[in-house]
Amino acid sequence: MEQTKYVLSEKDMPKQWYNILPDLPEPLPPPLHPGTGKPLTPDDLAPLFPMELIKQEMSLERYIDIPEEVREIYRLWRPTTLFRARRLEKALKTPAKIYYKYEGSSPPGSHKPNTAIAQAYYNKKEGANRITTETGAGQWGSALAFAGAVFNIDVKVYMVRISYDQKPYRKIMMQTWGAECVPSPSTHTKAGRAVLEQDPNSPGSLGLAISEAVEEAVSRDDTHYSLGSVLNHVLLHQTVIGLEAKKMLEQIGDYPDIIVGCVGGGSNFGGMLIPFVKDKIEGKKPDLRIINVEPASCPTLTKGPYSYDFGDEAGLTPLLKMNTLGHDFMPPPVHAGGLRYHGMAPIICHLLNLGLVEARAVHQLGTFDAGVQFARSEGFISAPETDHAIRAGIDEAIKCRETGEAKTILIAHSGHGLVDMAAYEAFFAGKLKDYAYPGAKIQESLKKLPKV
Ligand SMILES: *Cc1c(COP(=O)(O)O)cnc(C)c1O
Repeated sequence: MEQTKYVLSEKDMPKQWYNILPDLPEPLPPPLHPGTGKPLTPDDLAPLFPMELIKQEMSLERYIDIPEEVREIYRLWRPTTLFRARRLEKALKTPAKIYYKYEGSSPPGSHKPNTAIAQAYYNKKEGANRITTETGAGQWGSALAFAGAVFNIDVKVYMVRISYDQKPYRKIMMQTWGAECVPSPSTHTKAGRAVLEQDPNSPGSLGLAISEAVEEAVSRDDTHYSLGSVLNHVLLHQTVIGLEAKKMLEQIGDYPDIIVGCVGGGSNFGGMLIPFVKDKIEGKKPDLRIINVEPASCPTLTKGPYSYDFGDEAGLTPLLKMNTLGHDFMPPPVHAGGLRYHGMAPIICHLLNLGLVEARAVHQLGTFDAGVQFARSEGFISAPETDHAIRAGIDEAIKCRETGEAKTILIAHSGHGLVDMAAYEAFFAGKLKDYAYPGAKIQESLKKLPKV
């Protein structure tokens, strides 16, 4: 029998997250205070996050226990399945072996609750009963809304206006889980009002929605803030993906030659690649290729300089050393809303800078082609973000067909696309296009990089 799906039992779910910070060949450049330019202290972050998350953000402990209360919720959908894409392999006539780890089976349908549940738990434990956050296409907002329902926390989500209007279903999911969702720019904050004065019809951006959520959290004692990607503690929580994948492949007796994943802020792919890049750092698998895939219209890793920048539009967040397109860069409106962010997780940028991982940019139409081919062979309809990973996985499998090499390819599958059918509809109707590299806009935005 040719096995198609591999599952771990609940008791084999990881009991600890893996923290890569102590194992990096060179230390990660520290975040800086936006006012003083000095390295950030835990106290600087205290108005925003619970202490346990601040500790995790800076921790040099290699393994960090996953609280039993968090594992209990994880068990609703974890461990997630590792699939062997046998029908896709046949369709591509490739000698490559293709695996994908499927995160679409969580209640909100993506990897995001892996950290939303953990963050909500630590907030609740430290007495925070209200959290603000931002969301682009709505994946993160719905994941935190779900976590708020689990731990009985009030969640307020600033949702980028253009998505709020165009993608109503994620907003209704948030309401179903009991969260409040408002369009950004809003009249609730100074940052939002300033933009509305300039342009009452502003479509908003992720950077601006972050400014609004942070501003509200800082101005209220009863409210914390939560970020769904980019930060070290978020990637830490997502390592359950890579730890499970590694354990399953070990049981099969296989190991990837190539790992691909899509990157917006870098959390799902960071979570997948971190346990594997450890082997590369230790020299156990020196030729392992790890490919970060991003939209050509928002080419943070492939075109952005590695430089300190703000995480948000208004400049309220700490300065992070990362590849960046500039904090007020507004990317073209591609349908992979979760990949439209000007920056990237500092851990991934550091690994790229050290030459331990690679980056590749792909155009929108090719990603939908890949998503449709995947759906017609594997069945699952994937999020437009995930289609970027699938594009790169298929391209690598096609190269294997040409060279005759039977490589093992592992795709990080970040979520299903069942709430993104309007994007597929536009694709089938021929309404989608590829955007040229927005070089002039990026140059303009990069002029405003902070000097440190
Ligand atoms: C949010 C999202 C992404 C991008 O975010 P990362 O932090 O880079 O993982 C990718 N895929 C899906 C399905 C998402 O919801």
